[in-house]
Amino acid sequence: MIINLNKTTDLKTAKKISEDLEGKLIFDEISRIIITSSKNNTIPDKYNKYIDKYHKLKSDIQLSSRNYVNKTRKIKINKIEIGGESKNTLMITGPCSIESRTQIKKCAELLKEIGLTTLRAGCFKPRTSPYSFQGLGLKGLKMLSDIRDEYGFNIISEVKDASHVKDVIKYTDIIQIGAKAMYDHGILRETGRQKKPVLLKRGFGSNLQEFVQAAEFILSEGNPNVILCERGIRTFETKTRFTLDLCGVSFLKEYTNLPIILDTSHAMGYSYGVPDLTRACVAMGIDGLLIESHPNPKEAKSDASQQLNFDEFKEMYSSLIPICKAVNRKMI
Ligand code: PEP
Ligand code: MN
Repeated sequence: MIINLNKTTDLKTAKKISEDLEGKLIFDEISRIIITSSKNNTIPDKYNKYIDKYHKLKSDIQLSSRNYVNKTRKIKINKIEIGGESKNTLMITGPCSIESRTQIKKCAELLKEIGLTTLRAGCFKPRTSPYSFQGLGLKGLKMLSDIRDEYGFNIISEVKDASHVKDVIKYTDIIQIGAKAMYDHGILRETGRQKKPVLLKRGFGSNLQEFVQAAEFILSEGNPNVILCERGIRTFETKTRFTLDLCGVSFLKEYTNLPIILDTSHAMGYSYGVPDLTRACVAMGIDGLLIESHPNPKEAKSDASQQLNFDEFKEMYSSLIPICKAVNRKMI
């Protein structure tokens, strides 16, 4: 249940009601809200005078539910926005990992040439082997920050564990929570305690309810700027890296108010399939894409097989524009 308190209800009373109902309190300039488990559906009459309205929800998909707010949330990322009334499809691209200044500069030049705004690159890489390249860490974040200063791009980079969450929050414009970190409550809570946009990737072994409830951890800490990212789930199929759950994307569009970004690179795992898959995604009408591109994918230190080279990226990008128009969206 979501309870919207009156503007006049003071913090002490709000805390008392919240404790009594075993709820979670968001109390700041904008929100005065108590959220309880969806199983708890009763409010004692004595509290009526403090309450503006309440919403009873059937499951713990609550703040993100369309039964609470029946429109896609508007997320501002500095000068651009997605969701809300915008009809924007944000193209985020860049390498899997930042590897050097020269490499990231080449990527930045690609974005500049096309007129894109948002550069991705991982610094803390959640590798499946401890012997593989683990990322440049803080040094990489600082390089990305220099690129932001030089080009004015938004930067997105991922958090792998709670040890560097504060650094990623400091140096990025969108904080990416990787698929393997989706269940890390330390990260979810920490990113919920600030207001920067958070892109939450779906764990490849999690169902839609678990995915959206992970988003609720961030929202219920008070950060309303959450973006969902479908990046493929594990099925019995082994010919592709993962299986992109487009049925799930339809579910998320129908039942949640969070913008949705699709990552076709990690889903497919092989560059040959990425352009077709991305065209299919754009045709669904989505809020953004996350595509890995690299000046020389064969030499990439992580995810070499799935990254597009710049010619492949540009060819795919131009084919997306008319599809975007056909579904009444604008690629930014
Ligand atoms: C990535 O974006 O490079 C990445 C590691 O993604 P995921 O968390 O989806 O595996
Ligand atoms: Mn990657």
